[in-house]
Amino acid sequence: MRIVAARLNHETNTFSPVSTPLSAFGPDGPTFAAQALAQATGTRTGLGAFIDLARQRGDELVVAVNATANPSGRVQDSAFEQMAGSIVDAVKKGCDLILLDLHGAMVTQSLDDAEGELLRRVRAVAAGTPVAVALDLHANLSQAMVDHADVIVGFKTYPHVDMYETGAHAARLAFRWLDTGQRPAIAWRQLPLLSHTLASATAQGAMQRAVARAQGLEQQGLAAATVFAGFSLADIPNAGMSVVTVGEDHHQAQAAADALARMIWDERAGFVYTSADLVDSVARAKSLRAASAGVGPVLLLDHGDNVMSGGSCDTTPVLEECLRQGVTRIGMGPLADAQTVAQAIEAGVGAALKVRVGNKMALGLPNGQPPPLALQVQVRAITDGRFRITGPIYTGETWAMGRTVVLEHAAGILVVSERPMEPLDLGVFTSVGVDPGQFDYLILKSRMYCRPSFVPISAGLVECDSRGVTSSDYGLFKFSRLRRPVYPLDLQTSMP
Ligand SMILES: [Zn+2]
Repeated sequence: MRIVAARLNHETNTFSPVSTPLSAFGPDGPTFAAQALAQATGTRTGLGAFIDLARQRGDELVVAVNATANPSGRVQDSAFEQMAGSIVDAVKKGCDLILLDLHGAMVTQSLDDAEGELLRRVRAVAAGTPVAVALDLHANLSQAMVDHADVIVGFKTYPHVDMYETGAHAARLAFRWLDTGQRPAIAWRQLPLLSHTLASATAQGAMQRAVARAQGLEQQGLAAATVFAGFSLADIPNAGMSVVTVGEDHHQAQAAADALARMIWDERAGFVYTSADLVDSVARAKSLRAASAGVGPVLLLDHGDNVMSGGSCDTTPVLEECLRQGVTRIGMGPLADAQTVAQAIEAGVGAALKVRVGNKMALGLPNGQPPPLALQVQVRAITDGRFRITGPIYTGETWAMGRTVVLEHAAGILVVSERPMEPLDLGVFTSVGVDPGQFDYLILKSRMYCRPSFVPISAGLVECDSRGVTSSDYGLFKFSRLRRPVYPLDLQTSMP
């Protein structure tokens, strides 16, 4: 049997000013064919699972593309065309099964539903060939995606530690179909509900209960049930929550999807998040530190500039508030500022200099752009910013922050990189020679991905909202293409 597999992942924040060219899709851009296969083999990703399962079965497997980019603004059309084209071309050569590891919330310059269009193109050249798709829990599902895929399975964890298991689940259902001849049925239900990312953690609250219900359905024999929290920072018609099921027949799948959707709708208030004031959040971090001195840093999670939701990774309000409140022994990073990196590299290790760091990317939010933060610093280290991830998410992959510098200032250490980089691994500090455990406070531009790696070395965490393109204040964003009414923007919304 010949299988075509691919990984094409991007979560698009349509409000983000961070551009998304082809080069963003990997440390050196995407990889194709044999290089993609070699790169993805052994990784804990959906594609890694496809490769393992195909090998165990002795099937021939072609990997068209391996591409993943940090969340950012709309993907450039030319980048999408090249990557999607590689998948369509591989399928055109003939295959018995198509396995795709996608995100489900990709938006391009011209397409509000990039995955729907990709699947439509794949189906157009291989009508009748099974298509199984593994998706991120934050996928914004569409009718086109459900119409042009036979099997859809999404992550059940956030932070996402089950990418591999999800890929394996989707592939197993496809293999079962090919081995038994019994075609699975897929069903879905979209909810008029914009969840908040911080209310989509699967270890607590309404999301935990919804995922537990989905798992219960699977334990009772349903082939797959997924709760998609959706990705709300996208001004597209299909942003928001949905449910997808795979069953033996359409009736079974649809009944399960409807029941799951109803349960989520009844708990809709549990998917809303209300931010605390930044001044109070920093004060709370100080009391947390005072109460637990010596057991590790308090994490200040800057979720208004969350890189893994398309943050510019260059805003400074949390650091500024810390400085105002006299906080010291702060580790922070990475902060993306190519200009400051160049300035520090030119000055060299050991040099003392004045920098004006951050706030350089125009955010396009109401009330104008804040100025860069002036700091007197000493350059402590310069690196190429490449490191291999050891933490539980993206384990084994090499990520690149671009050239990176370590700057020491009066209140601590600031790691500045050329590219935005989510601090999802201790390596963002250790790879540049900084021990993150040495600080009293760590400012991380992350709301969730940092947790599996950083929480174990910390004395606790405080979520800090700040003005940025991933702020929890949806009032900062202009939604004009989103379907309406939608809860909680429209509080009177009812479930259709
Ligand atoms: Zn996600």
